[in-house]
Amino acid sequence: MSTVRTRFAPSPTGYMHIGGMRTALFNWLWARHHGGQFVLRIDDTDQQRNVEEALEPILHAFNWLGLDWDEGPEKGGDFGPYFQSERTELYRAAVDRLLAEGKAFKDFDPPEVTQADREAAEKEKRNFLNVRRSLDLTDAEREQYEAEGRPFVVRFLVPRDAGKVSIDDHIRGHVEWDCGLIPDPVIMRGNGMPLYNFATVVDDAEMKITHVIRAEEHLTNTAVQVLLYQALGDDVPEFAHIPFVAAPGTKEKLSKRDKKLEKYRKNPQFQKLFDLADRVFPQIGLGSSETLNPVMVKYYEEIGFLPEAVLNGLSRIGWSLDDKTEHMSLDFVVENFTLDRVVKSAAGLDPDKLLAYQEYWMGQKSLEEKVEYCLPYLVKAGRIPAEPDEPTRQFVGRLIEALGDRLKLFSDILNYEEYFVADNEMTYDEKAFQKRLRKPEDVAPLLAEFREELAGCDDFSADALDSLLHEWVEKKEIGMGRIIHALRMATTGKPAGPGMFDCLALLGKDRCLARIDRTLALLQEG
Ligand code: GLU
Repeated sequence: MSTVRTRFAPSPTGYMHIGGMRTALFNWLWARHHGGQFVLRIDDTDQQRNVEEALEPILHAFNWLGLDWDEGPEKGGDFGPYFQSERTELYRAAVDRLLAEGKAFKDFDPPEVTQADREAAEKEKRNFLNVRRSLDLTDAEREQYEAEGRPFVVRFLVPRDAGKVSIDDHIRGHVEWDCGLIPDPVIMRGNGMPLYNFATVVDDAEMKITHVIRAEEHLTNTAVQVLLYQALGDDVPEFAHIPFVAAPGTKEKLSKRDKKLEKYRKNPQFQKLFDLADRVFPQIGLGSSETLNPVMVKYYEEIGFLPEAVLNGLSRIGWSLDDKTEHMSLDFVVENFTLDRVVKSAAGLDPDKLLAYQEYWMGQKSLEEKVEYCLPYLVKAGRIPAEPDEPTRQFVGRLIEALGDRLKLFSDILNYEEYFVADNEMTYDEKAFQKRLRKPEDVAPLLAEFREELAGCDDFSADALDSLLHEWVEKKEIGMGRIIHALRMATTGKPAGPGMFDCLALLGKDRCLARIDRTLALLQEG
């Protein structure tokens, strides 16, 4: 086989869709699996907005995941330009060739006429085919129309008598269409702008793309595209139409439309990702789930997923190695990726699975790496200075260590505000304050007494504090429960968190004493 060349052709939309990312990943994997090339080509012919700005998030998503492209924006390559808006001459030349060979025609019928033809066909319950009136024009008439500047579109002249057009799709198998049933598609507007079906074929052919791996919704375009390759005398690439990424727990294509997003917020599996956004993003100046939602790749980066986890998750949407291997590094997937293991049916994005991958890949990270990932959250939330000094970094490291597997996403570090606020600004969980501090009768004297034990303690390590408290409750002949909850509430304001002794050790003696004193004062105030 010649060198495998795949491509991904996004429109610059200002964000990277997670489903599109999965399509891109499969293209990338197939190219890498074969030691071939992966091309990024920008479908910007219809672009009104600033392309560079709208493309940035897309390139960023590739960079974040570590999916490099061999040719495309910023890189160039032998088959450029890689922006369709810069390839107009190529499309025009190809159109001229088809026109000259009688394989395309200028259709001067106004859109209303074509629409009326279509409606008539519908009414008579027959398949619509273009009436091709413009083919009956004489050369003189055609020249006159053109001289008058009469509007037209260029249509491909579908070879209606060619029998069947077919592909052997890597995923869908043999698919065929009857050429006699295919309307003549517009391939270029009167203003010289090419349409998707045509530009794609010209580009894929010029760029020597060997495999077109794309979303299954494009299967309907494939008949015309294959006919266009043939008309242009180009090799037809191989196709793989992959199932779309469905919304969690559904068979519906994941969409970024507002109406759908409203639905997703109430989807039991999806909801938690939206809730996370609404809790985390406002703290780090990123708006809320209104601005960044889990349909976008950026969401996962900003909420604190590891690229490894997202890649693992995306690889497994509609593809598996076998029925047991779950955790796969990108290298491992590259080695094992084959199109014959892609399923035909829609495959859902699974937030729980993604979180499970995240937990696994988080477990593979060193403490230093976790610190590096967590620091920016604390900085953005204003909990630590923009350039944290060494003691701050160490403190964060100790907190992360104490959190253990409670730290699932890097943004989880924001749940532990109590370690970053001044002692007199720590807030208390109200319900737990009532239950653990206000209600139990003798809690204040016990707390005051144990405060003195802490004050006299020189070794503030978790182990030493553990022994200190155990010996003290034994001596006092009281149950551990009488003091430990109160102590946690008094020092952290929260009913749960890392191990109690880790909390005390983390805060250190002075802060623990200050917090206990403040709590005792509050209790006295009544
Ligand atoms: N720009 C097209 C899309 O995003 C590309 C389709 C294709 O891969 O042919 O749907």
